[in-house]
Amino acid sequence: MASIFDPKGKNFSQRINAFLDDAKATYGITVGKDSGRTVDWQQKHHVAHMFLYNSYKSTKPAKVDIGKRTISWSHFSDPKVIWATVKFSDFLRTAKNSVPVKDGTKWKVGFEPDQKATEKHVKSLQTTAGIGNSGKAMVSSGLKPCGQPCKCGAGRSKHLDGIASDLNSGNLATLSAKLTAAKAGTLDNYLAQFGLYRPLLNHPTSPEKWHVEAKP
Ligand SMILES: [Zn+2]
Ligand SMILES: [Zn+2]
Repeated sequence: MASIFDPKGKNFSQRINAFLDDAKATYGITVGKDSGRTVDWQQKHHVAHMFLYNSYKSTKPAKVDIGKRTISWSHFSDPKVIWATVKFSDFLRTAKNSVPVKDGTKWKVGFEPDQKATEKHVKSLQTTAGIGNSGKAMVSSGLKPCGQPCKCGAGRSKHLDGIASDLNSGNLATLSAKLTAAKAGTLDNYLAQFGLYRPLLNHPTSPEKWHVEAKP
């Protein structure tokens, strides 16, 4: 049981694996965990987040409209901007929902990006990828520093450095109910036994009940 595991001197992946093993052995629950995040994945969904939502408290993209916090449309659709890591063809859409076409440093006539169609498409990128909070949850940058078309000051994702994981929210709720039924304390007490915690649980603008890190 949990008391056997001493998180002292153990790294994040050892802690999370011990937690997942114990949840399975003691409570019969397999908790799903994100896997195989790449720089490309992270930067793609970060740029999408910064274009549509930006739930970061104090971080803004380099180009925003006055009073706004998201990447401005004039910058996002500027054909002269060279995007880093991410490809405009994954984001921009024409009014007919096709990929815009460049003609030198301009958009080809009739193939210009359309704001409404692009917003709709980018929204679906986030929901299809299973980003939390119906696609609106924060996604950290895959680059350090973040590049075009965002160029915000947000730090590189902890997921990429192997020091954070997103756990399946439904599985966590089931586990939480089992802990309560067994009078075994809260989910956070349980996580703490493995040297883990949820630093974004009460985040003011973008709470993440699924995001777990090693306790410092
Ligand atoms: Zn950024
Ligand atoms: Zn996370």
